[in-house]
Amino acid sequence: MEAHRALLISLSKDECNIDYIKRLISLTNLAYRDYEVWIPDLPKTMQHQLQNFKNYIKNLVFGTTPKRWFAETWIPLTTLRIYTNDSMKGDNRAPVVLDFRSNVIKLRQVCRNKPGFVVTVPMPRWVIDRVKEGGDVRFAMIGLKDGEPYLALIAEREVAQYTPSEYRLVVDVNSWKYGISWGLIRNGRIVSYKQEGLNLGRYYRLYDEVIRLGKKYGELKRSGLHRTTEGRKLWRRIKAMHARLYAITRDKAYFLAGKLVRKALKYRASLVIDDMTEELRRELLEEGLPRDVIKLLISNLKKFVHQLETLAQWYGVPYEFRRLYSRKCPICGYELTQKDGRVMVCENCGFKAPRDLVPIYWATRLYNSTEE
Ligand SMILES: [Zn+2]
Repeated sequence: MEAHRALLISLSKDECNIDYIKRLISLTNLAYRDYEVWIPDLPKTMQHQLQNFKNYIKNLVFGTTPKRWFAETWIPLTTLRIYTNDSMKGDNRAPVVLDFRSNVIKLRQVCRNKPGFVVTVPMPRWVIDRVKEGGDVRFAMIGLKDGEPYLALIAEREVAQYTPSEYRLVVDVNSWKYGISWGLIRNGRIVSYKQEGLNLGRYYRLYDEVIRLGKKYGELKRSGLHRTTEGRKLWRRIKAMHARLYAITRDKAYFLAGKLVRKALKYRASLVIDDMTEELRRELLEEGLPRDVIKLLISNLKKFVHQLETLAQWYGVPYEFRRLYSRKCPICGYELTQKDGRVMVCENCGFKAPRDLVPIYWATRLYNSTEE
C-alpha cells in the first residue's frame, strides 16, 4: 500500500509574487479541464509542468480535483532529489529541488515569472525524517491559503501493514471537552486505559478574552476609530489570540495522534477507532456551547482522526473504524442510565463504569467473542 504524508511550508510574500501564483492557479484549472495552456511569456519549465501534470495528478494527496470553475487548484510540481552521496532521483528540469547535501530546497521559477529566479528555503527536519523512514518526496505543490503563499511537500512510502499481535488499541473519539479516551485490550481484558483531556479552563479564558476584545473593537468601529493605531493594534491582538485558541487544540490533536500510533507500534497492536464526531456536534449544541467553540472543537477533532489515520497508514499499523456503544450495557445489552459525574449504570445487571470507558468494555466483548 502506498502511504502519504504532507507538510506545508509558508513562503515569504516578498519572494513569492502572489499575482504570479494566482495566474498559475488559473492556468492549472484550465489545464485540468483539458484546455491547451501554452502561454508564450511563461518559463518553459512551468509550461511543461502545467501540460504534463495530469499524468501524475493521481499521485497527489491534496485533493486537487477542482470541483468548480475558478476553484483554487494548487499547482502540482515535480521534484529533483539530490542525496548526500551525490546520487539523484527525479526530473532534472524539475522546478523543486531538494538538496540534501546542503540541506536546502530550491524553487526554480515557481515564485516569480523571471528567468533563473530561485527561492531557497531551509530543508525541514520533517523531510529528513520521512526519507530516513524510507519515504520519498516525488511531488510538491504551490498554492495560496488564506491569501498567503505555501509550498506543500508530499512524502510517499510503499508500506505493508504488520501482522497484529493479540493487542488492540481502542480509541474513542469523544470530544475535546471530555478528551479522547483510549484502552489497550488483550484477550477480553483491559490492560491499560487513559482519558486524555484538554485543559479547557485555559481555553475558555482565552475565548472570553477574544469575545471581550471583539466587543471593544466593535465600539471603536462604530465611532469610526478602528483605523487608528490603537484600533489596528487591537485588531492584531484579536487575530493573534484567535490563532492561539486554534493552536491549543490543534497541537494537542497532533501530539495525541503521534502518541497513540507509537503505542500501537510498541505493542504491534491493531487500532480500532470509534469516530463519533457527528453525534458530538449535536451533543455539544445541546449543552449550549457557543457555536464558534463547537466549530473549533469539531474541526480539530476531525484533524485528530485524520492524523491518526494518516500515521497509521504511514507506519503500517492495521486499523479499522468501528462504532462502539456508550449508552448500552456491555454485559447484558440493557440501556444504561447516566448518573452524576458521567457514570453509567445498568439497572438490570449492576454494571457500572465511567461513561468514556463503556466503549472500551464493548471492544473487549466484541473482539473476544469474534475470536473464540
Ligand atoms: Zn447490564
